[in-house]
Amino acid sequence: MNIYQSLINLYAKLKCIPVFLNEVFDQYYNGYCNGILWPILHHMGLPQEDHNDTNKTYQPQYDAYKKANRMFLDVIIENYEEGEIYSLVYKTLPSRSELLRSILMADLLGFHTYDFARQFVSTCTRILGVEGTHEGVVDQGRVTRVAVFPIGIDPDRFIRTCKLPEVIQQMNELKERFAGKKVIFGVDRLDMIKGIPQKFLGFEKFLEENPNWHDKIVLVQIAVPTRNGVPEYRKVKNQVHGLVGRINGRLVFSHFVCHDCSVNFNYLCALYAIADVMLVTSSRDGMNLVSYEFVACQEAKKGVLVLSEFAGAGQSLGAGAILMNPWNVTEVASAIKEALNMPSEERETRHRVNFQYVKTHSAKKWGDDFMSKLNDTFVESEMQI
Ligand code: UDP
Repeated sequence: MNIYQSLINLYAKLKCIPVFLNEVFDQYYNGYCNGILWPILHHMGLPQEDHNDTNKTYQPQYDAYKKANRMFLDVIIENYEEGEIYSLVYKTLPSRSELLRSILMADLLGFHTYDFARQFVSTCTRILGVEGTHEGVVDQGRVTRVAVFPIGIDPDRFIRTCKLPEVIQQMNELKERFAGKKVIFGVDRLDMIKGIPQKFLGFEKFLEENPNWHDKIVLVQIAVPTRNGVPEYRKVKNQVHGLVGRINGRLVFSHFVCHDCSVNFNYLCALYAIADVMLVTSSRDGMNLVSYEFVACQEAKKGVLVLSEFAGAGQSLGAGAILMNPWNVTEVASAIKEALNMPSEERETRHRVNFQYVKTHSAKKWGDDFMSKLNDTFVESEMQI
């Protein structure tokens, strides 16, 4: 049995069908998805070096994108059985109108926040001239429902992990290593949307303005390597490395650790659990699940979440977090200060609010809500025929 056949058999048990993209993968995933669509959908525009190149049509990337989506579509058509529910978003073409119309082929579109859903509907009305209602978009009599389903995590998995003897041991080692210091923690993929440079500049400003904290604080940042095949990502990695060197060179008294690596799940939970402050400075972020994971691991400590107002999580965890604008270095620095000086009763109250939210808005609830709405939508459309 070859490797492809073994994979097909393995996935069949999980009711999944693999699609092998092979040579199309690089231009499709690194080229079009992560090089073009990702920055545009996170309000960053096209990659810098392409701004002056008006002849650049991204044709090879578009072609690979269409080809890959066609491959997905063929597998769906081949395996579709009457009565099965699925959302078809694959028939894409290389212009914004065609891309939007392709997305509108779905019966139901789900977004993490009301803002994203509203923006989508208004983009459709502006670009396609279709009707936008509170329920969705109507295009030539056909309705595509638009609804909000904020994604969550499996909170119990984090809560359970924090109670494992091995993890408690890791926590104790970390506490010993950072004894006498407050720990600010950050964990992000090394992506331009995560605002890692803004985080470091805010921390630097905090240290400059608060010399009394110099020997009492440490910033631990896990910068997870990602999408190295895309030039923009290599640039942000160099920028982050440059800043780490500069800040550590200038502020030799500070404790500032930046690891370019991924960490295993248990160790990540130990880091979440011992942190006093979690710092999230995304300039754009669909949701930002690490905020949720931090809250789930803080039952004992009740640390403070400092969260960018531009992360989707800002709309769900805003009540318990300190929200700030990561583009404003002064605001980042004062949010760090506020978090470090927060009285324990306030920390407890804020934590309770967020913990309750994370517990009740789990990934399972997200899946159940999505499927239930999709079923309702399906039944409604059947009744209209
Ligand atoms: N994560 C991981 N390996 C690591 C560090 C983090 O798999 O070394 C996980 C983390 O637990 C979280 C996810 O990566 O579940 C990041 O999700 P988030 O929504 O915060 O950001 P994304 O990377 O999806 O943009």
